[in-house]
Parts: sequence; structure tokens; C-alpha cells
Amino acid sequence: MLKVDNIHTYYGNIQALKGISLDVEQGEIITLIGANGAGKSTTLMSISGVETPRSGSIIFDGQDITHKSSHEIVSMGVCQVPEGRHIFPQLTITENLDMGAYLRNDKDEVKKDLEYVMDLFPILAKRRHQSGGTLSGGEQQMLAISRALMARPRLLLLDEPSLGLAPLIVQQIFEIITRVNQEQGTTIFLVEQNANMALKIAHRGYVLQNGMIVKTDKASALMEDQEVRDAYLGV
Ligand code: ATP
Repeated sequence: MLKVDNIHTYYGNIQALKGISLDVEQGEIITLIGANGAGKSTTLMSISGVETPRSGSIIFDGQDITHKSSHEIVSMGVCQVPEGRHIFPQLTITENLDMGAYLRNDKDEVKKDLEYVMDLFPILAKRRHQSGGTLSGGEQQMLAISRALMARPRLLLLDEPSLGLAPLIVQQIFEIITRVNQEQGTTIFLVEQNANMALKIAHRGYVLQNGMIVKTDKASALMEDQEVRDAYLGV
């Protein structure tokens, strides 16, 4: 579904990605783990069109999206939940969710998807008339994920959904990510510093260090890998 081939992405003179290659099959949950500043967000933003790689290519569904705008990439079915959530604080939860579906004309299906996300996160249903800015950090993360789901993405890009959240909330959000993958068949690309949680729900993983992929394997194998355990799992 997605093939990233040898991309190099820069911020001015700073080279953030030094030849990243990875692939994602339809229906998978793939995680990209790595320390602060390794280049995880830059990888996501290169895929979603927020940043443009200086060289290399990104193919989605057989189409070269390397130089496409983020708007075009969203319309192809790739949706990103950015780090830090970025919900609309003045808008109500329902209005935030409507924004996620703004490219869609299939009203009946949008309504069904609204019911689906409210079922995933019942707290959002309870607070549907409340403004987004009044929600807790965990609830805002739930809203950000739900808003992305309202676009009915085929590939969902998640940037550190666990950031700054209590362990119980993280667990709940990760269970929902698994549920969406299984129930909707949504392919998921999950960037995480919380390698422990990410590897538990992923099928395969990539380890990023200083802008380069240094390891890739099945998630279960990465969890047993001594270097990964020492560096990222704290065991
Ligand atoms: P974190 O977990 O802290 O978000 P990350 O793995 O997502 O880290 P990136 O945010 O992709 O890492 O950053 C990769 C490198 O690019 C870092 O060295 C960072 O300082 C640099 N970088 C990121 N954004 C910019 C920017 N807008 N301008 C200049 N350098 C940047």
C-alpha cells in the first residue's frame, strides 16, 4: 500500500532523514519507534506531504505522492493525526468531527461513521456539545483520532498518540487503535516513543536512529531483541 524508498528530508541545511526506506502492507499496523529527534515526525510529515523529501520516492497505492500537496494526499485516503492533537478548541466536539468529513458527500455514511466514533469513545458522545478546548488531554487525543476517522482514511498516520497521557488512557487509546484496524480494516502507521505499547499492538516495526532505519522485524521479534530492549523498552 505504501512504499517509502530512500528518502532524504531536510530543514534548511539540517538533514533530518538520511535515506529512509520502509513499506506498509494493506491491513497492517506498523510502528516506527525511536528516541527524541530521531526523525519520526519528519518521516510522517514526508508521507503526508507536509514536508517534501529532497530525494527518494513515496508511492501510495501505486501512485507517486512524493511531490503531491498534503491536500491531494488526504483526498487519496491518507490521514494524519499530528503530534499535539491540534483540535479546534472553539468548536464543539460534533463540529470538530464534522470538519474531519469535510471532503465527503456521502451524508448517510458520514452519519454512520459519526455513530461509530461515538461508540468507540462514548465520552465524546456525552460531551458532544462541549467545546474541544474544554476537554482533557486524553479526550482531545480521542477527538483528534476520531476526527481523522471521519475522513474514512485507508491509511491512518498517528504521531505519538501516547504523548503526555496517563498509562490507563494510553492503554484505552491503543485498544481502540487495534479495534479500528480489525473492524474497519484501516491500515495504521504509528509513530511512538512509547515502544513498549506500540510494539504490543503492531504487526511489524522499524527502529529509527539519527534519521536512519537501523532495524526492522516483526513486532514480537523486536520486543525480544536485546538491543531494542536495552535502548527502548527499559528492560
Ligand atoms: P520527537 O519525538 O522529539 O518529536 P522525532 O523523532 O519526531 O522527535 P523529528 O521531530 O522528526 O524527530 O526531528 C528530526 C530532526 O530534525 C531533529 O534533529 C530536529 O531537531 C530536526 N527538526 C525537526 N523539525 C525541524 C524544523 N522545523 N526546523 C529545523 N530542524 C527541525
